[in-house]
Amino acid sequence: MSKFLSKRLEFLKAYVPGEQPAEKKFIKLNTNENPYPPTKEIFKILNIAEAEDLKLYSDPDCKALTKKLAELYNVSEKNIIFGNGSDEILSFCFTAFCDEYTPAVFADITYGFYKVFAELNCINYREIPLKDDFSIDINDYINAGGTIFIANPNAPTGLALSKSQIIEILKSNPDNIVVIDEAYVDFGAESVTNLISDWKNLIVVQTFSKSRSLAGARLGMAFACEELIEDLQKIRCSNNPYNINRLTQKIAYEVLCDNDYFKQCCKKIQNSRTFLETGLMLLGFEVIPSKTNFVFARHDAIGGEDFYTRLKEKGILVRHFSSDRICDYNRITVGDEHEVKALLRAAEEILEDI
Ligand SMILES: *Cc1c(COP(=O)(O)O)cnc(C)c1O
Repeated sequence: MSKFLSKRLEFLKAYVPGEQPAEKKFIKLNTNENPYPPTKEIFKILNIAEAEDLKLYSDPDCKALTKKLAELYNVSEKNIIFGNGSDEILSFCFTAFCDEYTPAVFADITYGFYKVFAELNCINYREIPLKDDFSIDINDYINAGGTIFIANPNAPTGLALSKSQIIEILKSNPDNIVVIDEAYVDFGAESVTNLISDWKNLIVVQTFSKSRSLAGARLGMAFACEELIEDLQKIRCSNNPYNINRLTQKIAYEVLCDNDYFKQCCKKIQNSRTFLETGLMLLGFEVIPSKTNFVFARHDAIGGEDFYTRLKEKGILVRHFSSDRICDYNRITVGDEHEVKALLRAAEEILEDI
């Protein structure tokens, strides 16, 4: 730290992303990427002319992409904003809808970035403990007295609230914004995007990183009523109006056009997830039933960190979190069939060794 860093950021703990090793020697099941590549249709636009056009700024309004997404999700173009990853949109939400009078409210076990964004923006936050089974008690969110952030399904647990439970939360918070982070919703949970016309306090955030195989392109989106989107646009345009680069806009457009391929990939991942859950349970793991592209699992015979380390020695990366309530667990991304089998084989060997 230099002597020049602002005092207000002295104690900020930055988000620690999952390992992204440069060499491809690991089976990578640690950051919930999609095992399948994006649709081959994107090769249409990956050409020299597009590369040469990089001399020009991108469309600050993402017009073509917005129109396509609006059609596909059956919302108005004014109900949509794009971000450089959904992380950027979440960051805009903290800037726009939290302050010294309006704290952020989120679960004690959830996406680690919420706490980082709160600290970065010097905003107070209140963490609500999940129940012992890691589920959310919606009664804890009645009149929350701040801006609510809920990952649904939650990460790293994989558990989801139903649409009717989210409606209960919206109903009991007429004066609070409720941000529903649906990063994993396409893998089997109920989306609430179609509630934005009824609920003026709802923001639904989604991403192209997981279900649409574009983690490296950095694209996320939010859906909300026109007024809330205007607020978010104000932050975006005060920050970086060209936040979505040219190639990402073009590639994401092609990805949205091939929605059948996207659905097939989601289906395959759901099938692999069942295979992975069953395999782990047969090996004696306790597995939390997942609505996502990862599973959260622990075993009585081995600690979470030990299992993580031994898997890494065998060339498999998973994600371990060291915080108290979840340090016995590992979060394992659902890979393709070959990767899931390799994981199960390695787990079996490790349990034999100990
Ligand atoms: C992965 C993830 C995101 C962020 O994804 P981006 O790559 O920034 O779009 C947001 N929320 C949750 C819960 C996630 O797991």
